[in-house]
Amino acid sequence: MKRTFKFCPLCKDPLRGKQVDGRKRLVCQKCGWIHYKNPLPVVVCAAKKKDGKILITKRNLSPGINKWALPGGFIESGETSETACLRELEEETGLKGKIKRLIGVYIQKTREYGSLLIIGYEVSVSKCNLSLNNELKDARFFSKKNLPIIPFSSHRKIIEKIFESV
Ligand SMILES: [Zn+2]
Repeated sequence: MKRTFKFCPLCKDPLRGKQVDGRKRLVCQKCGWIHYKNPLPVVVCAAKKKDGKILITKRNLSPGINKWALPGGFIESGETSETACLRELEEETGLKGKIKRLIGVYIQKTREYGSLLIIGYEVSVSKCNLSLNNELKDARFFSKKNLPIIPFSSHRKIIEKIFESV
């Protein structure tokens, strides 16, 4: 289960449920702090080689440990989504890429992080010497014909859209 606040992070008073802007939210009785639940922004990277194959990675962390997915991660404060996308790709796989286009924006619910706002980019890569960090167990380039099973529907939609235009 996702953990939630019981006490105000500012003044430590207990929080109470209250209607704010049409939703029940936890509110501090003392200082008025409101626990807004907003989706966390995540970038997802579909790195494509010149031959049209896409890089898909086997995850070594939750959610989806041991499952295949596109590389990606959380956007850091002050970072653009494009920078985050290329940074995550390089951190996880050692590949340097170039943003080609925005594929789409999706919502995905997770137990660990609540709802995620997923921003998917197509990225072109030329050199393909993979050097995986500990967030990944495996990474390979796949063609449209031999895709692995991917549990995240947003990632499947991004991949579908990329192969649509081939
Ligand atoms: Zn408070």
